[in-house]
Parts: sequence; structure tokens; C-alpha cells
Amino acid sequence: MTVSTALDLAQLRASIAGRVIGPNDDDYDALRKVVMGGIDRRPAAIVRVANVDDVKAVVGVARETGLDLAIRSGGHSAKGDSTTDGGIVLDLRDMKALDIDPEAKTAWAEAGLTAGEVTTAVAEHGLAIGFGDTGSVGIGGITTGGGVGYLVRKHGLTIDNLLAADIVTADGQLLRADKDTNPDLFWAIRGGGGNFGVVTRFKYRLVDLPGIVGGILVLPVNAEIIERYIALSEEAPDELSSIANVMPVPPLPGVPEEWLGKLGIFALMTYAGEAEAGQKALQPFRDLAQLAGLDAPIADMLRPMTYPEMYFPEDADAGSDYHPLAVSYNLLLDRCDRPSAQTIMEHLEALDAPMRVAQLRVLGGAMARVRNDATAFAHRASPIMVNIAAFYEGEADRAEKQAWMEGFASAIRQSDGGAYVNFVGDEGPERVRNAVYPGKTYDRLAEIKRRYDPGNLFHLNQNIPPA
Ligand SMILES: Cc1cc2nc3c(=O)[nH]c(=O)nc-3n(C[C@H](O)[C@H](O)[C@H](O)COP(=O)(O)OP(=O)(O)OC[C@H]3O[C@@H](n4cnc5c(N)ncnc54)[C@H](O)[C@@H]3O)c2cc1C
Repeated sequence: MTVSTALDLAQLRASIAGRVIGPNDDDYDALRKVVMGGIDRRPAAIVRVANVDDVKAVVGVARETGLDLAIRSGGHSAKGDSTTDGGIVLDLRDMKALDIDPEAKTAWAEAGLTAGEVTTAVAEHGLAIGFGDTGSVGIGGITTGGGVGYLVRKHGLTIDNLLAADIVTADGQLLRADKDTNPDLFWAIRGGGGNFGVVTRFKYRLVDLPGIVGGILVLPVNAEIIERYIALSEEAPDELSSIANVMPVPPLPGVPEEWLGKLGIFALMTYAGEAEAGQKALQPFRDLAQLAGLDAPIADMLRPMTYPEMYFPEDADAGSDYHPLAVSYNLLLDRCDRPSAQTIMEHLEALDAPMRVAQLRVLGGAMARVRNDATAFAHRASPIMVNIAAFYEGEADRAEKQAWMEGFASAIRQSDGGAYVNFVGDEGPERVRNAVYPGKTYDRLAEIKRRYDPGNLFHLNQNIPPA
């Protein structure tokens, strides 16, 4: 894009109800930070929009100046798409209106809210909506990408509970998108990420969820335990969704010292239903410890709780000092049999890094009952998702961790070539085209992009250039 006009901060300030932060402002450095470490970009302006008119104005300025436009909700993008060098950050963090209708079991939520904020507020009415595993993730990014979390098997992806959205498109118009109004746009923003405009608010369907049985279970690990864990997860009732992190056991209350740093399964589990049935469904997972000769799990923190308690209060927050340097790679698997489990063990054992992980999520259930072409999330039939990740300590260390990750990924890859957009990093257009949006999904997205954003104003994302 060519820059036709330099950004005039004074003029921008005069046209915005919210705040415009430039490089000379005291809080510029704090506000330009994103969650992932190693991303150090210097935008020309960060605009903390206060309302829809501000969003329209910022979109207009980006269009007229030709400056790069980054959309920021919770700031968790792995690729750093919510910031830019020299461009404008449209920062939604001050737009947090939340309008819950407990009778209708719906909520309109502005896009500056986090998953944790919405989850906590709706739980006061005994209601829930599934986002991901981390409370500080923004609803803007997770919803437009899909949303895989603790309710995925019972209630589907976040987008499966999206009823409508308000979205400012590249021409500066505010459009409603739902099943009857701009249905093509509604299809595209359910998985197509930030390619189509700035969602200012989402309308979610809420489900009754007075309580869950869940929390943390720490198990010893070997290939047999991984294989059984996955098989049990696949056989479990839809109420049970979990995330099994095969990784060095972290320091947690109740974890005996001799286990710290040894490989184990750090499982985050949710049974979204009645307590007695939940305990029954979770028991076979506890019993897996016996396959390593233990009488009981290394730590068993599974208990009846409210759903928001699944989110740790100390979750990464872009305003906090937690900015990990990590390499990561997302794959979808057809199965996790003994050879796959052995591959997982071998690769984790081969690296000596304090934080290295194969994060396994069994999908299926409600998510898989939605037609594959019903939304732009095109991986409905994939039964298992895996994220491989390792932290590194500086550029010199990065190459080693990257090579380990690539070796691990190619060893475990099966016939499913797919990947989930929200866990993909800076991996090039081929990966977006072939893995994230395979086949007809990409063609349809590119055609919708041509109609709503022909100039590719919204290109800081897993980009779909206009057809
Ligand atoms: C610690 C951690 C845990 C995670 N856990 C999960 C998980 O369990 N499940 C899961 O599904 N994902 C998970 N993710 C991935 C997460 O969903 C994506 O990184 C998501 O994009 C983050 O959204 P955000 O608003 O915080 O990020 P941002 O960096 O603010 O936004 C990322 C991108 O989303 C788009 N976007 C954001 N807001 C809007 C908007 N209002 N309108 C249009 N486009 C927008 C833009 O393209 C933007 O560049 C996790 C990420 C991290 C770092």
C-alpha cells in the first residue's frame, strides 16, 4: 500500500471520542505491548476507540492515509497481528459494554471484553458460553477464529453459539451480520478471522450451566497412558472436554517435589453437567495413574466448581509482565494410537527445555455435528487437535527450538493436513490457503473478501486476499 498522507495526530484526536496515544505519550510503551514476547513494534498511533463512530473514523483514516491498520482486542495473536510498525492500532480494550438477557439467554458483548470477563458476568445468571482455556484472551480474536475450549464437545465452538455481530467494514459502514442479514458476511466471520472488518459487538447464545466438575489433574505419563487418555476422551460423554498438556510437571500446590520438571500430563478438565455423573466420568482418568504403578494421580484438583473457576486469575494479560518467547505449531490428527503416543514421548524426551509441550484436545461431540460448510471453520470432522510448543530464551536458542518443533510436527503428521487459524503463527500464505482454509472454504472466503474489502484494508491477519 502507498502512504498518501502522513498521520496528523492532532487532527485524529479532534475526531475521536476515545484516546489517541502517540510515541510521545507516557503510556505508549505499555500500551503498544502485546502478549507474546519478541514482538516489539512501534505504531504511529494507538487509538483506544470509545464507540462505533470512533471505529468508523479510524477505518476511514487508515483507508485515506494507506497506513497499516491493526485490530486489537485481547492482544494474544501469536503472529503479532494486533500491532504494527508505523501504522495504526485500532484498540478495542475500552469497548466493554455487556448486555445480558437472562430470560432470552443471550448477550450482546462489545469486542473489547475478554473471555474471562464475559464468562464471569454471565455465570452470575447460571449461564455460560464456551471460549478457550485462557481468561485474558479477547473475545474479538477468539470468536472470529472459531473458539475451541472447555465446552467444545457439549456446546460446540464459540462461533456455534454466535447469533449475530455488528461489524464496521472497509468502507466505514456498520453492518449487522446474522443468518438473515448479510448471511455471507456472517458465514465468513465465523472462522475467517479479522479479514472482513472490525466486529464492534457479538451476540451470543448462552447455555444453562450452574456448575461443573473440573479443574486440574496431574498424571504420570508414558505412551500407554497417552493412548488411553485419548481413547477415554473420545468415549466420554459430550459433557466432558479436556486439554491434556504432556509437559514437565509445573510447581502446583499438592505436587510432590520429586515430580517437578519430570514429564507428566497436566490436564485441564471440564465436565459440564451434574456433579455425580461428572465424578463418574472423570474417575477412569484418575485411574490412569495405575498404568504407571501409582495408586493415585500426582495431583488431583478435580472438584465441583463454577465454570469461571476454570480460568486462572493469573492468566497472561497483555498489561502484565508475562510475555513468553515461544515457538508453536498446530496440527489436526486423525487418531492418537500407540505409535503416535510413542512419537510424542520421544520428541518431548529429546529436548531439554523447562517449557515444552504437546497439547492434545479431543474434539468431536457438538462441534462435529455442525456441517463442515456451515461456517468458515472447515475442520468439523477432525477428531484431535495438537499444539506443539516450546519456550526459548533469545534468538540463539530459537533456532534449536524451531528445529525441534518442525521435526516433531513432521513425525506426528497424519493424513489431516488442517490447522486451526487461531493457533497459526507467521507461516506463509500456503499454510493459510491449504491448511487453515482448505478447498472451497478459501474460494468462498476470497469471494466474500472481494465484496467487503476489495482493497485488502484488513490484511494484518491470516490474510485472505480478495478474489
Ligand atoms: C495463552 C493463550 C491461550 C489460548 N488458548 C486458546 C484456546 O483455548 N482456544 C482457542 O480457540 N484459542 C486460544 N488461543 C488463541 C486465541 O484465540 C487467538 O490468539 C486469538 O486471535 C486471540 O484473540 P485476541 O483478541 O486476544 O487477540 P488480538 O491479538 O487482539 O487479535 C488477534 C486478531 O484477531 C482479529 N480480531 C481481534 N479482534 C477483532 C475484532 N473485534 N474484529 C475483527 N477481528 C478481530 C484480528 O485479525 C487480530 O489481528 C490462545 C492464545 C493464547 C496466547
